[in-house]
Amino acid sequence: MAPRHHKALLFRSVNERIASLAADLSRRSVQSDFEFHCECGTCQEWVMLPVDRFLAIADEPGAFVLAPDHPVPRARRARQEAAELREEAEALRAQAEHQKRRARNHVDPE
Ligand SMILES: [Zn+2]
Repeated sequence: MAPRHHKALLFRSVNERIASLAADLSRRSVQSDFEFHCECGTCQEWVMLPVDRFLAIADEPGAFVLAPDHPVPRARRARQEAAELREEAEALRAQAEHQKRRARNHVDPE
């Protein structure tokens, strides 16, 4: 996996955490600005955004929080990797369940 895409995904999850904290803090106004991490995946910059703007970006496939002039991560690829990660996690969980059942049957056969 290319580190840059991985980072973009990581920053998105950091930003989602910020948004949910911000929503808690400013229950009355999601219009107030908060600092979100730039999601280009190559920098350490922060971007001031109203929480509702971030939520709109997060809802839009292929949209990212970006500092001015920062490059857009290759969205389709990042999204595909996110989907692949989810599938992988699902498969691992299913496998773990299967092993658990097998182990249980092995120890305690009915
Ligand atoms: Zn950036």
